[in-house]
Amino acid sequence: MDKELKQLQEKINYDKTFDCVQCGYCLPACPTYETMKKETHSPRGRINLVKEYAEGKISVEDLKEPIDKCLGCNACTVVCPTNVQYGKILEGAKHVIEEKRTKSKKEEWVENLIFDKVFPSRKWMKRIGNVSWLYQKSGLQSLAQKIKMTSIAPLHLDQFEKVLPDLPSPTKRKSRPKVIKAEGETRMRVGFFTGCIMDSVFFEINKKTIELLIKAGCDVVIPETQTCCGALHAHSGKVESSRQLAKQNMIAFEEEHVDVIVNNAGGCGARLVEYEELFTDEQWKEKAKSFVEKTRDVSQILYEALDQIEFTRPINDIVTYQTSCHMINVQKVTKEPFELLQSIPGIEYRQFKGYDRCCGSAGIYNMLNYDDAMDILDKKMTHVKVSRAHTIVTTNPGCLLQMKLGIQREGLQGKMRAVHLVELLHEAEPVSKERQVTAISNNA
Ligand code: SF4
Ligand code: SF4
Repeated sequence: MDKELKQLQEKINYDKTFDCVQCGYCLPACPTYETMKKETHSPRGRINLVKEYAEGKISVEDLKEPIDKCLGCNACTVVCPTNVQYGKILEGAKHVIEEKRTKSKKEEWVENLIFDKVFPSRKWMKRIGNVSWLYQKSGLQSLAQKIKMTSIAPLHLDQFEKVLPDLPSPTKRKSRPKVIKAEGETRMRVGFFTGCIMDSVFFEINKKTIELLIKAGCDVVIPETQTCCGALHAHSGKVESSRQLAKQNMIAFEEEHVDVIVNNAGGCGARLVEYEELFTDEQWKEKAKSFVEKTRDVSQILYEALDQIEFTRPINDIVTYQTSCHMINVQKVTKEPFELLQSIPGIEYRQFKGYDRCCGSAGIYNMLNYDDAMDILDKKMTHVKVSRAHTIVTTNPGCLLQMKLGIQREGLQGKMRAVHLVELLHEAEPVSKERQVTAISNNA
């Protein structure tokens, strides 16, 4: 076989495509097959295309569109009876497509700026947060919306900026300490993975996450040299950049000697638990193994600490939950958010049909494939409305913005809201039981 073809087959994980027995069990689970109704836009169809491409039977152009339209939600891997590693096949295909892509100098410059400078830099992300705060507070946002100036923004950013939360002032951002001590006795030393979007746009959710963790008996450390998880890089076929970011994060948390590494974003968490697969050399593989073993979603830590906290404010509301695909299909965190929600006094929990299917956000899929993502979202909102819930809970920033957008598209602002799980738990005003007991005995 020609050497180039052999190398391509290795890169694209050709051998893994043979695990697919074409049974079609994955078809009903695939959101893009449901909305686009094409075999090429199903898991089985995409695997076949990758195989044909790796055998030199089709061109990269034939492969590109079906792969670009895949959400990467991993719903197909969960139902597959032969355990096809679709995620690996998808990542390989994206890597090869990216390598073959011809870019103009301008495109290359913009991509390098976004992927190599902006996302990996905490400074840059802070700056973006501060500029957005100024945009909101100076009245520029209202003016731009009034004169419809936002409609000229690319990638449908005008739609997303309408549902952005209120951003914190630069002073508030600056005042966060690096180490925050537990309330009461320390149960564990937790390293908090802040995420890039979470820490710039959803800074308040990060703040509430820390507050919940300290009530659950955790000393919280925020390593300053941590960086982006690398999910966006990997989903865009930039494997080497993703590997470098993983290395930086592993070193940052290793230096802090933490017991556990906690995140609050389903998509980032999924990337963090996949770090081991990025390396072949023993030394980095070993480091990655230890990193992955320590990685947890915040819901797992809070669930384990449920007997140590008490919610003091009932939330009399009908609540539903839109899962994060990466959290349930990759991290396999399933029961904890449900259990936490149902432990809040006053809540009436109602599950809607398809709660565990992708909402169409999928990283930046909804920006790059806006119309397809909105088809998926609109379908979801029809089921959400049937539940008659007033609050939709999510566990990932992308899903949160997408569900806010869904509420807006349905004209339900003021009647329905979307929140992160951490926000709802915080709203229920949890207190540390140990601290309560200490306060009572001090007063006696
Ligand atoms: S369920 Fe698995 S084996 Fe069956 S068609 Fe889908 S990917 Fe292939
Ligand atoms: S990852 Fe999601 S969208 Fe892509 S093929 Fe699998 S089920 Fe379909």
